[in-house]
Amino acid sequence: MAKIFTEKDGNLADLKGKTVAIIGYGSQGHAQAQNLKDSGIKVIVAEMKGTDNHKLAVKHGFKPMSASEAAQQADIIQILLPDEIQAKVYESEIAPHMGKGKTLCFSHGFNIHFKYIKPPKDSDVIMIAPKGPGHLVRSEFVKGGGVPCLVVVHQNPSRKAKKVALAYAKAVGGLRAGSFETTYKEETETDLFGEQVVLCGGLSALIKAGFETLVEAGYDETMAYFECMHEVKLIVDLFYQGGLSYMRYSVSNTAEYGDLTRGPRIINKQTKQSMKKILKEIQSGKFAREWMKEVQGGAKNFKAMEKSEAKHPIEKVGKKLRANMKWIDAK
Ligand code: NDP
Ligand code: MG
Repeated sequence: MAKIFTEKDGNLADLKGKTVAIIGYGSQGHAQAQNLKDSGIKVIVAEMKGTDNHKLAVKHGFKPMSASEAAQQADIIQILLPDEIQAKVYESEIAPHMGKGKTLCFSHGFNIHFKYIKPPKDSDVIMIAPKGPGHLVRSEFVKGGGVPCLVVVHQNPSRKAKKVALAYAKAVGGLRAGSFETTYKEETETDLFGEQVVLCGGLSALIKAGFETLVEAGYDETMAYFECMHEVKLIVDLFYQGGLSYMRYSVSNTAEYGDLTRGPRIINKQTKQSMKKILKEIQSGKFAREWMKEVQGGAKNFKAMEKSEAKHPIEKVGKKLRANMKWIDAK
């Protein structure tokens, strides 16, 4: 099992006198910057002028600057830009300020592992990757909790990189929940696999196929939405609290018998073959090359797919139904 780090393993004093630059005030940026600041760490923020996130950073008491200025001033540079633009911003704004005494940090290993960013050998390179969306990284911290983080020391010429990484993990709340040691390779490949096969890709496709099957068989869209989309959260909450067995304890015996006998017919040997193929595409760098090529070509397919998915009937019926449930904080 991966090594676990808890509160006693990190010391905020290891960040004393150091400045952390958060490059990009988006989902992770706004959360990590505020958590660090609340932990007493000196934080500066880089954001593009005129954007909503620039305004948000100002509202939160920061004075956003350019990535280049922030990289120059900081000891620890945490890159929280979208993965697909990190290499470009790194080359033009950050690389000129790297060197001895600087620590480069990420929350996902894509650009280091696939070598789109090649930091100089005299700089430390670490990763603190919260295993949850940015908004939870902030809200759990405010409640006194935290989101578990993956912690990596990749380059360590200063011999202090691990202490800095653990202090950073502590300052964002990651040690409250327990954080785990890993490598850039393992974090990058498992993260991509998880989001493609289970969390984002697999689950959305499962929900959509279930919804379509009911609607095509003549059932009302409302019923199909509740069964195949809305209730997913209620079931997943049970997994989150007590694993598969707690879900099975909580649902009816009828539901449990259906789960045990029908589940393996939906996710079967063939599905697992597809999963293995997708994992190979991640490991070989095929997925990374495909995604970077898509971005370089102006992301035309990506935008077209986003647009057509937004028109799916489950999105239309969902919007109406969520509007009636005021307590769910519909987006
Ligand atoms: P977001 O897209 O939410 O945020 C990126 C921010 O960077 C945006 O505010 C964007 O501005 C800003 N930005 C873009 N270009 C520049 C620039 N040249 N200078 C300064 N700011 C700029 O990213 P995420 O938080 O989702 O992802 C950041 C990193 O964290 C990624 O590596 C991701 O893999 C990782 N991660 C993300 C998680 C998540 O919860 N989303 C979970 C774990 C890891 P604008 O919006 O105006 O374009
Ligand atoms: Mg992930």
